[in-house]
Amino acid sequence: MTFDPNILGNFTLFGIAFGAAFIAALWLSLVIWTYRDIRSRARDPLARVLAVLVVAVLFLPGLLVYAILRPARTLEEEYQRTLEEEALLQTIEEVPVCPGCSRHIEPDWMACPHCHTRLKKRCHQCGRLMELPWNLCPYCTTPAPGMRRENITMEDALQALPVEPPADEAAPAPVESMETETPEPADENQAEPGKNAEESAGSQG
Ligand SMILES: [Zn+2]
Ligand SMILES: [Zn+2]
Repeated sequence: MTFDPNILGNFTLFGIAFGAAFIAALWLSLVIWTYRDIRSRARDPLARVLAVLVVAVLFLPGLLVYAILRPARTLEEEYQRTLEEEALLQTIEEVPVCPGCSRHIEPDWMACPHCHTRLKKRCHQCGRLMELPWNLCPYCTTPAPGMRRENITMEDALQALPVEPPADEAAPAPVESMETETPEPADENQAEPGKNAEESAGSQG
């Protein structure tokens, strides 16, 4: 059996061409894969160019280097993680939010910087911050301006705050009228002698 050297040479040529084509395709696909991968992991254009260059120049060792150095999380995963952390933080801390625009506010802010909603008012006596519905400063017990009432205990003032004022006034009224039904004539009797006394005093003088 004799080998034709030409056939052997053709086979070798074919094998080399096939291997070269395969390696070229592998190189191209690895570069494309790297470009797609780094695009989902980094926003920085320089990092993207560097990653593609490393794989394009160094080929398989470059891919190994890229796999070691690439960002651990994709941008999507990073975003999801940020959302979860924010949600967790809100449930833990009960962050105060603006009643107008629901954005985060600091507890010592007087107004919302985003929507200009009034958040707190200042005690005119001691200068500390009070909630808007409060009629009384909890630090120095000074009533808020326009809310000053004479001869009223603090308990009365606090009880009157949450309920509507008309309901409070309407409730005791019928009770008083029922009680005063019987002594009404007595009042008239008492008033008459007074009148008589005045008249008599006037006639005397
Ligand atoms: Zn706001
Ligand atoms: Zn005060």
